[in-house]
Amino acid sequence: MAKLFPEILGIEAGQNSELANRIVDRVKAGNPQVVIKPYKSGGPTILNLPTQLPARDKEKVIWQHAKRALIIREKCKRKEHGYLRFLHVFVAVGDVVEEYQFTLSMENECPYSCQFCYIQGSLEKKPIPTIFTNLQDSGVLLREVKIALLAMHMHTQTHGLLHNIGWDQQKWVHWLMGVLNKSIPINLSDVPIQQLFDANKDEIKKYLSQSKNPRMKDIEANLDKFDFKDLKQKFKFNCGEINDALVFDHLTDNSKFLIELFSSETMKNDGAVLLFRTKSANFDNLKQLPPSENTRVSVTILPAIYVKGPPDYIGRLKGAEQLLKLGYQVSLNIDPIIFAADSMKTYKKIIDDIKVHFNVQSEKFHRITIGMLRFGSKNLDNNIRKRHIDLHGHANDHMTRIDGDEKYRYDSDKRIEIYKTLIDYAQAEMPGIEVELSTEPLPIWEAVGLTP
Ligand code: SF4
Repeated sequence: MAKLFPEILGIEAGQNSELANRIVDRVKAGNPQVVIKPYKSGGPTILNLPTQLPARDKEKVIWQHAKRALIIREKCKRKEHGYLRFLHVFVAVGDVVEEYQFTLSMENECPYSCQFCYIQGSLEKKPIPTIFTNLQDSGVLLREVKIALLAMHMHTQTHGLLHNIGWDQQKWVHWLMGVLNKSIPINLSDVPIQQLFDANKDEIKKYLSQSKNPRMKDIEANLDKFDFKDLKQKFKFNCGEINDALVFDHLTDNSKFLIELFSSETMKNDGAVLLFRTKSANFDNLKQLPPSENTRVSVTILPAIYVKGPPDYIGRLKGAEQLLKLGYQVSLNIDPIIFAADSMKTYKKIIDDIKVHFNVQSEKFHRITIGMLRFGSKNLDNNIRKRHIDLHGHANDHMTRIDGDEKYRYDSDKRIEIYKTLIDYAQAEMPGIEVELSTEPLPIWEAVGLTP
């Protein structure tokens, strides 16, 4: 599979970590013509944009050029994420069904060009793919994962689990992460979170009592009841939420680093699950590593509609099948489905190809996730409208936003009809297969006969 190398590499001042040096060496080896430039946040762009750029094309041209560049820089602490660097609670709101989980931001953006990509909304002003070079710094991510796990277990043991976490509770967990960040020493080894909690309970109590957030009183009141020993509850750490998890793995070896970090017995017992979500077939590192039962790979299988860059989906399927054989837990995503006159034919063909190229009977196969095109309202108005005129026209013609939903979607009757048709077809062709919906409200799950 063709591995991607940037045409322009922007390097922030002071980049000298092992990871930063590895990326620079490998980019130079993979593309000897690469142009290296200093990168400074807020400084002039590193992109070589045309000088005469009509206003109506500006956003689109910047987006296209950004995909061919790469920035390497350090990730800073985020006050709103409890002063952690790489982790925050993934949020879903309203009636949308979504597990409680963390986004692991090892990179921003992606070199592929999917016009519907939701990352255009969250990273509107930062379209250039970026790799954070302090991810593998000694002990940094380990400590953040422990803090995140402890905070989420404390939160859910206090407030229970709903069908999504919502904005309010996301903030409470971030606040609790901030309290734990102050209470827990900088240098940690991979000890069970129960041990971490017991050793630092007095400090945790002190900072909880000083907290200005009234919701921390709920946690404080529960302090003597927490139990982190026989944890059934698992929480995912998705390293492909605001990037593609593996597309730059040949530059970073981040998969090796993450699998080693997450595959200890302690991490498993603490309830950590590592998720790689990808539209690449960049599986070379994974194939060399022993799979761990708390590592999952989620491979997106879609036709090339409004998409440029990823390998042909048959190649991805074959790669996913190899991972399955090696013992990885794999799930497949058919998301987002884009409505067109021949949608059913197109997506049934994908199900046929899954049946041919992938062993759905393997005990390591997890499930198929299906979802339909949706847009955050700001992303549609600010970015899709300016960058992708055809797709914006499609959204205008076929999508609406109803009260209480943050997203533009196809009409619910149409979604239900398409989901039911595809679920029936998949279950008829591959009996026993588990199917779930992506980012859909509870009533849609119920209408198509699925239980979250
Ligand atoms: S592969 Fe995923 S992250 Fe990359 S552009 Fe496409 S949708 Fe966005």
